Formats: sequence, C-alpha cells, structure tokens
Amino acid sequence: MAEVLVLVEHTGGDVKKVTAELLTAAARLGTPSAVWAGPGAEAGQARLAEFGAATVYVADSPDLADYVAAPKAELLARLVASASPAAVLIAGTAEGKEIAGRLAVKTGAGILTDATGIHAAPDGTPVTAHANFGGAVNAQATTRTGLAIITVRPNAITPAPAAGQATLVPVDFTASDAARAARVTAREPSQKSARPDLTEAQVVVSGGRGTGSADGFKVIEDLADALGAAVGASRAVVDAGWYPHQFQVGQTGKTVSPQLYAAIGISGAIQHRAGMQTSKTILAINKDPEAPIFEIADYGIIGDLFTVIPQLITEISKRKAD
Ligand SMILES: Cc1cc2nc3c(=O)[nH]c(=O)nc-3n(C[C@H](O)[C@H](O)[C@H](O)COP(=O)(O)OP(=O)(O)OC[C@H]3O[C@@H](n4cnc5c(N)ncnc54)[C@H](O)[C@@H]3O)c2cc1C
Repeated sequence: MAEVLVLVEHTGGDVKKVTAELLTAAARLGTPSAVWAGPGAEAGQARLAEFGAATVYVADSPDLADYVAAPKAELLARLVASASPAAVLIAGTAEGKEIAGRLAVKTGAGILTDATGIHAAPDGTPVTAHANFGGAVNAQATTRTGLAIITVRPNAITPAPAAGQATLVPVDFTASDAARAARVTAREPSQKSARPDLTEAQVVVSGGRGTGSADGFKVIEDLADALGAAVGASRAVVDAGWYPHQFQVGQTGKTVSPQLYAAIGISGAIQHRAGMQTSKTILAINKDPEAPIFEIADYGIIGDLFTVIPQLITEISKRKAD
C-alpha cells in the first residue's frame, strides 16, 4: 500500500487532536506516515503510534521553527519526491492551508481543501467530501493528478485508535534561501484560560443573542465552568462585541464536535449549525419552541435561559457534592 503523509500539528511534544483525525483518514487511503517538523518528536511518538502512524519522519531543524509556512512546504515536497505517497493530509488551519497551497505549486499536484470526509474509490483514488454553504450543498471531489494534497476540516472526522509502530526516521533538512525569506522574530504565548480549548473540548457551552448583553453572557461562562466545558458563541454575540471572535462557532468560526454541545439562546441558523452539527449530543435551551435549533437537538429545554441556567448550575453542584 502506498504511504499517505500526515503533517503533525503539535505544540512542543503535545500532538493536537486534529492529527489523530488525519491519521484515521490516512489509513483509509494507505499506510499513514506522520511528518514531524521541529523539536519534540520523542514526546509525541506514543500518541502517533496510538492512531496508526507506521513511520514518523522527523525533521528537527531550526529552519522549521524559526520561519513561517514556506520551509514546511519545502520539507513535504522533498518527502513527496522520496516517498511517492498517494496523498498528503494537512490540517485545515490557517497555516495548514498556506502550506498545502505552496506544496501544490511545488509538486504540480491537485489540491482539495476543507474536506469533511475522506475515502478511497474502488481503484484506490482518494475521494473527499465537502460540505459547502454551511452544509446546504454536499460535494465529492478527486484530483486528476496522481498525488492528492488534502486539507481536512478539524473535528470533521472521528479519530479511531489503530496500533502503529511510529518508527522515528530522521530527515536532514535545510530550507532554501527563498523559503527563509520571512522569519519569526518573536513569539508571545496566547493568554490561556483555565478552560479547555474550544476545538478539542469534550463539552462546549455556547451562548447566543438570547443572552442579551456582554453581562448577560456571563451565565454561559458560569455553566461552562460548572461542567468543565469550553465556551463558544454565535456570530451575533461576537458581532455585538459581547465575546471575542476566537470563540465563534460556525461557518465563519470554529468547527467543533464535542460529546456534548449546549446551544443556549441560539436560534440555530444554518451558518451556526455548520460548525456544531456533528456534535454527539446537542442540548438546546431557548424560549421559542419554534427555534430551528430544536430540529437538531437531542434534548431541548423551552424556557428563559436566565431562569434555566441557575437551576442547572445548582443541580450540577449538588451532584458534584454527592
Ligand atoms: C456568510 C455568513 C456566515 C455566517 N457565519 C456564522 C457563524 O460562523 N456562526 C454563527 O453563529 N452565525 C453565523 N452567521 C450568522 C447567522 O446567520 C445568524 O445570524 C446567527 O447565527 C444568529 O445568532 P443567534 O442564534 O445568537 O441569534 P438569533 O438568531 O437572534 O437567535 C437568538 C435566539 O435566542 C432566543 N432567546 C432570546 N432570549 C432568550 C432567553 N432569555 N432565553 C432563552 N432563549 C432566548 C431566541 O428565541 C432566538 O432563538 C453567518 C451569516 C452569514 C450570512
């Protein structure tokens, strides 16, 4: 079986959930091989093995840490030349999309972006699924080149553990002068809240316009903290300046797929659904029984969120105390 390269997303040795998703997708097309750019591969090796990576190509070069996307595209292009993979899978993050575009230009291969599903055609050709216009139009695509470069939407594919060897294979890498044209001169760690990361959380509590104001939105944070959940917001909330944009869920925000998604004071517009409809269990709290969110909710509470949430928090606290 041909190799399928997966570019690992990591912070230090911490492998991001999206990489497990990519390895699961890669196994449908061939033998998954992870590509680790930068330091920390030893720390991430066990996690890559857990999700089926047979090989981990490790390029621990300062060129990969100190420069923006271009050197990673160059590294992948060299591995494409030596390993002749069937496909290269890259997370559909801002950086991932840039790397994929550059790689497509370098290799002349077809590129498929924002895939929400991947499978192999009977002849082995990679086929991708795409949910367009917030899921209103679904399409399937293949490339006409031998190699397919695919960016995959985070949280669209459920990671499935599959044992792999994750054998570390060192790769010598020095970026070209052209790839080193733009350099990272400083890094500032983002303000980490004590809450889980929105795109990786098991439970997400999201608030909408129904919260009424930035002050009103605080009940969403209170419920999230009671549940140990991440906080999300609808675009209406973000546009009103009640909560930062980085927490927006939906077509033009983050895609999440937690075990439990609570949509509170959110009507359920198609653009919001696009970012959360694959959640395992959906709870909706809304005072309008006709709100479209109830069409996709597993559990619904019809009521005023400012009455319902305090009762929920009291009940959760009681159960925690038991
Ligand atoms: C190109 C494009 C991209 C977009 N991308 C996104 C996106 O990424 N994410 C996104 O969310 N939206 C997006 N939108 C906007 C989307 O169409 C909706 O306008 C938005 O999702 C509405 O947010 P909302 O549900 O919070 O507000 P509303 O639609 O106004 O709904 C508020 C809900 O709160 C309920 N409510 C009010 N008061 C209470 C109360 N006290 N207790 C309980 N319930 C109450 C109401 O019954 C209502 O159902 C996009 C739109 C476009 C055109």
